[in-house]
Amino acid sequence: MKVQTAKDVINNKTRTGLKLLAEYKHDPTYLTTAWFVDFSNHFFDIITSRNYKMALSKYNTDVYLSTLDHIRKFEHIIHNMSVGKGAWKPCKTGIRILCSSVVNLQEYYLNKVGYSFLLLGRFTQDSVENLFSCIRLAQPLPNIIAFKQNFKVITISKNGFIIYDMVGAVLRSVKKSYKSCETCINSVLWHENKSHPFNLVVQLKNYTPGALVEVSHDCFKAIMKCEITFRKIRFVLLNAKNIDIVQCFTEGMLYIWEGNNIPDCHKITRKILYRFIRMRSRLYGLKQRENIAALFSKQSKLTSKSIAMRESIKNKEIKRSSFISQ
Ligand SMILES: [Zn+2]
Repeated sequence: MKVQTAKDVINNKTRTGLKLLAEYKHDPTYLTTAWFVDFSNHFFDIITSRNYKMALSKYNTDVYLSTLDHIRKFEHIIHNMSVGKGAWKPCKTGIRILCSSVVNLQEYYLNKVGYSFLLLGRFTQDSVENLFSCIRLAQPLPNIIAFKQNFKVITISKNGFIIYDMVGAVLRSVKKSYKSCETCINSVLWHENKSHPFNLVVQLKNYTPGALVEVSHDCFKAIMKCEITFRKIRFVLLNAKNIDIVQCFTEGMLYIWEGNNIPDCHKITRKILYRFIRMRSRLYGLKQRENIAALFSKQSKLTSKSIAMRESIKNKEIKRSSFISQ
């Protein structure tokens, strides 16, 4: 549902306009609509309250009772009003469920659990809508496979903000180190007016406006696929011998760019991928070295790096199995 469109109509300005029209045209029938707009607007404010001022609380009994009364009246009006030709509309059921749920929830939290106030806006499905919005950003009408794939990308993306920042850093290094053209660079940059959903870290780090780059969603999505694979095989990569793992992994992961309209004149996708894998492998290697050093300092019985590594894996396996068994 497009809430903003409804909010654009059901608000105080519309109510004032209708009242003015009633005065101007000497027609009191406008006042009925003005009253309904006002009543619905106040209901919306109560249901989506996210601040203490509008919260449901027993601190002021009169306000508390009148708020509950407002919710019940709204339910009554929706139940009895006719929409269009008078047939029952699904939205009426939805609003009635909402009203009765809110009344029961506040009864439970304020009277039984003992909360001092309740922010009803916390019960909205905004977080689910945010998730769908992220999935639709990648593909407006995804099929089942695309949905599953994008969902996977998003669920591991509590680290997405960091990966997005890393891809930006990689692109800057590619720009500095290799020859490329404007078309290539522009094809992997973010051009929308609104910010990318994962640009939080970039924003926080951006002391000088425009110094850090924001990459396109296609570029970010491709690198996230690479990140998922890297996580699965990173231990194998770390132990590989006599091969250039960055080069090999890059060759194997080139398919992530399939279907993107990024020009091939300067092979920018390959360069970004190569630099990202190199950066990622270095970071992982450093982390592993730190872990081994920590193990050495703790356990003097570990006399070699390979024994330390084996112990490290054993510890990880124990931690993982105890986590699963919990
Ligand atoms: Zn080019």
